[in-house]
Amino acid sequence: MLPRTIFTEDHEDFRALARSFFEKECAPHTAQWERDGIVDREVWRKAGSIGLLGWEAPERFGGTGIRDYRYNAVLTEEFIGAGCAGFGYALHNDVMPPYLLDLTTEEQQRRWLSGWVSGELITAVAMSEPGAGSDLKAIGSTAVRDGDHYILNGSKTYITNGILSDLVVVVAKTDPAAGHRGISLLAVERDMPGFTRGRNLAKAGMHAQDTAELFFSDVRVPATNLIGQENRGFYHLMTGLPQERLGCAVHSVAVMTRALSLTEEFVRTRRVFGTPLGSLQNTRFVLATVATTLSAARAYVDRAIELHIAGELSNTEAAALKLWTSERHGEVVDACLQLFGGAGYMDEYEISRLWRDSRVQRIYAGTSEVMREIIGRELNLAP
Ligand SMILES: Cc1cc2nc3c(=O)[nH]c(=O)nc-3n(C[C@H](O)[C@H](O)[C@H](O)COP(=O)(O)OP(=O)(O)OC[C@H]3O[C@@H](n4cnc5c(N)ncnc54)[C@H](O)[C@@H]3O)c2cc1C
Repeated sequence: MLPRTIFTEDHEDFRALARSFFEKECAPHTAQWERDGIVDREVWRKAGSIGLLGWEAPERFGGTGIRDYRYNAVLTEEFIGAGCAGFGYALHNDVMPPYLLDLTTEEQQRRWLSGWVSGELITAVAMSEPGAGSDLKAIGSTAVRDGDHYILNGSKTYITNGILSDLVVVVAKTDPAAGHRGISLLAVERDMPGFTRGRNLAKAGMHAQDTAELFFSDVRVPATNLIGQENRGFYHLMTGLPQERLGCAVHSVAVMTRALSLTEEFVRTRRVFGTPLGSLQNTRFVLATVATTLSAARAYVDRAIELHIAGELSNTEAAALKLWTSERHGEVVDACLQLFGGAGYMDEYEISRLWRDSRVQRIYAGTSEVMREIIGRELNLAP
């Protein structure tokens, strides 16, 4: 493996803190959370109490004010490395900062940021609808201005943290005739009348993560809950995408690392035809390919993290990174599972969960096809 050079001692200290938290507070509960279809709210508060949530917030709200994506990356590496699943911290820590820190007013920050840091205020972003996912411009939710409020109507689906969330950034049309120039972001809070939740959706994987439908029926959202500028929502969302896609890539590399390590351990002890599975040439070849892929993926992601910290990770580069790492992620967990034989298909082996959880990486935060479209456009092939 190529040596990694992006982390300092401070990141390694944070890594140790995160690792011990995940080993103690998440790993022992993961199987139960998978059965429940949701994590315990308590884990949010515990993570918040030791500084693992929303630390980018200014110190006056309980954060550190440090915005350095390497800490986000460390958290994901340790979460996956400890064999955990379901806890939606990544959406909260990685996807929310562009909205909660860069687009909010001082008054909004006073209302929301300390809860974001403490884990009392769990967050979600609701873009997708039954009729519109990749094509965000096609959303049907509307927010019509009425004095000091917007009247919000519509429905959302597949929303991560959908059941647990207390504050949902909802994407709605404030000027339906204006296409992508008529979209705004509204913060909808848990108890607003007319805001209801549908099912916690049963899924092919990610069983411990709550993914839900949300419904809005004449919800009166105060105009003071507008995030960013009216009708600039589409641009605000575009600004947040590189970090969200970088987060997916970091996740993919963390899972590939975990899958390789679980598989190495398994093939050393499993015997076939009187010999350790690991001594077969096929096993060496498969895992040599996986190790090589992982080494390249890690170097690619680490470089992207550096670029992102410098403010230079473009939307196209982030799309390419997400495309390549999520496709490799799928191949790697599939190849690793195969080496487990029937055991790999059994839930008691973690590789089974890594495999079924992997499928969505090529779908959410922009599908592989949409990533190819973004990259392809920049190639300027049909001038
Ligand atoms: C577990 C999970 C969690 C999610 N969490 C959230 C969340 O927190 N918030 C949120 O808003 N959304 C969330 N989503 C939704 C996710 O972002 C969408 O599912 C995704 O963007 C795809 O949209 P879609 O499902 O409508 O598929 P569609 O857009 O209908 O796509 C169907 C197919 O058409 C292809 N396609 C679409 N456009 C093109 C094109 N231009 N060229 C070629 N092919 C194309 C797609 O690649 C896909 O293969 C989540 C989804 C899942 C599964």
